[in-house]
Amino acid sequence: MTTHARRPRIALVGTGGTIAGAAPAQAGATSAAYQSAVVTARDLIDRIPALAQVADLQAEQLMQIDSADFTDEQLLALSRRVSALCARDDIDGVVVAHGTDTMEESAYFLHLTVQSAKPIVLTGAMRPGTALAADGPANLLHAMAVAAHASSAGRGVLVVMNEEVHSARDVAKVNAMRLDAFASPHGPLGAVVEGAPRWYRAVARPHTMSSEFDIAAIDTLPLVGVVTSHGQMRRDIYDAWVAAGARAIVHAGFGGGTVPAYLKPVLAALCAQCVLVVRASRVGAGAVIRNANFDDDACGSVVTDDQNPPRARLLAALALTRTSAPSGVQAIFDRY
Ligand code: ASP
Repeated sequence: MTTHARRPRIALVGTGGTIAGAAPAQAGATSAAYQSAVVTARDLIDRIPALAQVADLQAEQLMQIDSADFTDEQLLALSRRVSALCARDDIDGVVVAHGTDTMEESAYFLHLTVQSAKPIVLTGAMRPGTALAADGPANLLHAMAVAAHASSAGRGVLVVMNEEVHSARDVAKVNAMRLDAFASPHGPLGAVVEGAPRWYRAVARPHTMSSEFDIAAIDTLPLVGVVTSHGQMRRDIYDAWVAAGARAIVHAGFGGGTVPAYLKPVLAALCAQCVLVVRASRVGAGAVIRNANFDDDACGSVVTDDQNPPRARLLAALALTRTSAPSGVQAIFDRY
């Protein structure tokens, strides 16, 4: 199962979510009612005897929350903890059990801020452990198998769900109910086959060891808001983000980041006030092209390439820790 000479030592970091969820005793096995974030990381491991064949495990409970409750504070704490674990000689890889709702954001943040080549794998579940066909145990077993395998090193942060291995750069939750809830626009990197990762692609963009972002000296991330486009937009919401102190606003536009004619002066005014405008697409896949539909060169706005709005928020915030020049931020979006 692994190419390590000895059994790999993997740390499980529990953060909560449905994988740590349980239905109330009176609910039926098919009931949709459950409480997330109640089962400890240690108990998750103890429920899967097959894990003992995969790795020597240690478990810790960093937090016990629904992933909807993640803020930048929790993201920074998670990144620091995973970095500290990866720095230890007696740890070969880290698995993070996480709620699925914001897993893509935590995974991407770790992908950009943990400087380690050791495997880091996030997993979760769409159903609580008390459900008739709970997916958490298999997801956790597969995540451990990937983290324990030497071929997973240096690939950036991975998300293992439903027998697929995704890159944190690309993966997103695309279905609120189904077990195949996660997808990557360019496809998964690989699959878990007979208890081991089988790879088909590699990520071309910088991450972990080649990332330039260092959060060691950062207590808070620069505030970046996201405004999602719909018919009948109003400027007030942009003004509210400016009043809240946002240094950048991700405009999650239609299609390829399109800005309605009546909003163009609003975005131009933001740029003139030195609030960075980052044009993304609300579609969730496909690149936003610079100067198409909106004069980014004239206004000083930035386009996200193909990053979805939640990830664009994180990359913009990290970029602002390096530079406040729109051209510098654009270079970062082009590179990552
Ligand atoms: N609300 C849960 C969470 O993200 C959903 C899940 O884990 O699937 O924590």
